[in-house]
Amino acid sequence: MSETKKRALVTGITGQDGGHLAKLLHEKDYEIYGIIRGQHNPKREAIVEEFPYVTLIEADLCDQSSLIRAMELAKPDEVYNLGAISHVGYSFKNPQLTADITGKGVLNILEAIRLTDAENKVRFYQASTSEMFGGLEYNRPEKGYNEDSAFHPRSPYGVAKLYGYWITKNYRESYNMFAVSGILFNHEGERRGPEFVTRKITKAVARIKLGLQEYIELGDLWPKRDWGYAGDYVEGMWRMLQADEPKDYVLATGETYSIEQFLDLAFKEIGIDDWHPYVKQNPAFMRPAEVDLLLGDPSKAEKELGWKREVDFPGLVKLMVENDLIVEAKNIKL
Ligand code: GDP
Repeated sequence: MSETKKRALVTGITGQDGGHLAKLLHEKDYEIYGIIRGQHNPKREAIVEEFPYVTLIEADLCDQSSLIRAMELAKPDEVYNLGAISHVGYSFKNPQLTADITGKGVLNILEAIRLTDAENKVRFYQASTSEMFGGLEYNRPEKGYNEDSAFHPRSPYGVAKLYGYWITKNYRESYNMFAVSGILFNHEGERRGPEFVTRKITKAVARIKLGLQEYIELGDLWPKRDWGYAGDYVEGMWRMLQADEPKDYVLATGETYSIEQFLDLAFKEIGIDDWHPYVKQNPAFMRPAEVDLLLGDPSKAEKELGWKREVDFPGLVKLMVENDLIVEAKNIKL
């Protein structure tokens, strides 16, 4: 064990942001510990293969004693809480599980830190989300949501995340912990799960191009999101924990686009100008309550952390379609 290397403990190491963060922390020469959940987790093998430098610890956000053990094993300088039930649609179907993991799980890990960190030195990052704002017309600031905007979550996921946000703030104020929330707007990329609309579209577009699929079924196409690249956003998380003071920050692009606009660009990548014949609407993919429009104002992070997204919207769509063309072509050969 090196005495000089910084040590990080990451929950959600098997997820999209966990992968990007593991790469970033490795480049920065951290000793990295990742929490992996469940017996025979099917993602374990892939993680071990891609990130041999990450030490995996079996623990669960619902089991506080396992988190205390993880803290004792990892002895981290920084903890990144990226683990959660993170899909809005799924959270409507599993609201209690979402509350337990996405909400109360944050309390469990904060308590594990408080009980093991006698010197109060650990820095804690909580993955908060733009879904806490809700996107309703009456609570929408013109320049986009910022750190002072009013919350109005529209899903069990958003409500659970709001608890995580407040309990993080509460531990900062109550125990003087360096505990912060990054309020991240949608961030996508080649590691995004296919249950999210961007990856669902780019995967389908690649398969349509390769003759593997005829059309794609989607829910509502009018909602707008502030979509950035996940690789840029993990840099912002890290910067929040290197700051002099613990503060919450919005990370966003400051631009918003509809799903229709995403479809326009994705299909253009494979030479199709009119996507309508390839898209069918299916109410199964519509939500009981929808977030109409999300637009973030990242000026505080830009000014205080020197953070700015590098990949723009067309760049993101292109990167994702190009990646899926390679992934899907490989699947044919197998
Ligand atoms: P979210 O912003 O965290 O909910 O991210 P998603 O990628 O899951 O959804 C983004 C938007 O796409 C939401 O407004 C969804 O209602 C909408 N959407 C439309 N069709 C689909 C679909 O087939 N799957 C998903 N996941 N979202 C869809």
